[in-house]
Amino acid sequence: MARKIIKRSWAEPYRMKMVELLKMTTREQRNKAIKEAGYNTFLLHAEDVYIDLLTDSGTNAMSDRQWSAFMTGDEAYAGSKSYYILEDTIKKYYGYKYVVPTHQGRAAENILSKILIKKGDIVPGNMYFTTTRLHQELAGGTFQDIIIDEAHDPYNEHPFKGNVDLAKLEKLVKKYGAKRIPYVCIATNVNMAGGQPISMANLKELRAYTKKHGIRIIHDMTRVAENAFFIQQREKGYANKSVRQIVKEICSLTDGATMSAKKDALVNIGGFMAINDWDIFEEARNLVVVFEGLHTYGGLAGRDMEAIAVGIVESLDDNHQKARVGQVEYLGKKMIEYDVPIVKPIGGHGIFVDAKAFLPHLTQDQFPAQTLAAEIYVDSGVRTMERGIVSAGRKPNGENYYPKLELVRFTLPRRVYTQAHMDVIAESAAAVYDRRKSIKGLKIVYEPKYLRFFQARFEKLK
Ligand SMILES: *Cc1c(COP(=O)(O)O)cnc(C)c1O
Repeated sequence: MARKIIKRSWAEPYRMKMVELLKMTTREQRNKAIKEAGYNTFLLHAEDVYIDLLTDSGTNAMSDRQWSAFMTGDEAYAGSKSYYILEDTIKKYYGYKYVVPTHQGRAAENILSKILIKKGDIVPGNMYFTTTRLHQELAGGTFQDIIIDEAHDPYNEHPFKGNVDLAKLEKLVKKYGAKRIPYVCIATNVNMAGGQPISMANLKELRAYTKKHGIRIIHDMTRVAENAFFIQQREKGYANKSVRQIVKEICSLTDGATMSAKKDALVNIGGFMAINDWDIFEEARNLVVVFEGLHTYGGLAGRDMEAIAVGIVESLDDNHQKARVGQVEYLGKKMIEYDVPIVKPIGGHGIFVDAKAFLPHLTQDQFPAQTLAAEIYVDSGVRTMERGIVSAGRKPNGENYYPKLELVRFTLPRRVYTQAHMDVIAESAAAVYDRRKSIKGLKIVYEPKYLRFFQARFEKLK
């Protein structure tokens, strides 16, 4: 008799050829390690971590083809063959005309902001990103959030929480005039919203509106392929288009881009700026020499550019994205099964646990997300990070910001961990959840002036 098949699972479109051995630790060792790290997961020694979900940036596993390309890197100071390979790849798959390599995304943001932003300018965007906003501000601009309201609500299940609210943009154009808006900054698969996509329909509307007003669109394309996958899965008319086709269409609706290749493009270091306007390219190519290196290497080794070129192509493979986003979804669903409160819909690069709902008996001043990240590490050696009151920092007058969202981020590196690892992670979150009532908060005992979340130290409340 034929067996009834309930579902067909996705699986990784690769197999393992080399493995990295991990140190296994005891609960006692982890208790000691987290105490020594001041209950801050950023201060742990990576060696003491079993499953590292601190970030998906530069932590990806490269393929055999990327490692092979590494060996063919041309390390010429000027006019490296590897530069032309990278340039050709970006033109072919993303469609931008001119390319300036940089050592990572923030370097591209620095150069672009310096060229396009004048003092007093307004830069609207679909939610801020830390380095992007800082470079806009350093160049004299002011960031204005124009993402839809739904993006700020962790339980709103809008399928495209990365969308722009055009009414918010129109208000800015009316108030400041289009001349003071050098560009609109559009992130694909918005990081700070939890890895949430923008729809093609929304981007098209934005293109039509900005065209009318002569405003550029600059694309933060760090996670464009993950965004394209969500469009394929969720947006009408895209089910039969490939990730590769959708990515090209997204890029065609924008005028230029900054890229952190450490995410989508599956490398450990690298980035670039791309632009369709020759004059901006000319200026960028000149500025990159000041801050990064010659315009044909921009702070990268030839081998890095080779690995990025191969990584870009691999990132656009439908099966790769199916497994990438599929793994995140697998972990999210497991968490939901165990009643662990998470941000919805499940995003593209990680799971965000709602620490306020997880530890409702702690006030925000007792650092629920910081506490939870430390507890999960002690339970299983899984390293996550705080995205709440510690990350939000203080206002210029010294008062704490009290952000609405108090989250613990479980970020998945690409092609690194297995489904069994996902089970261990979810089971650990569930085990901590089961004893949540006995968990005490933290107090801060050391705090640096800037970006305190990296180096702050805590002690357990009695
Ligand atoms: C990581 C990131 C950046 C900055 O890139 P780096 O390579 O870390 O300098 C910019 N934008 C987004 C959305 C990112 O996630």
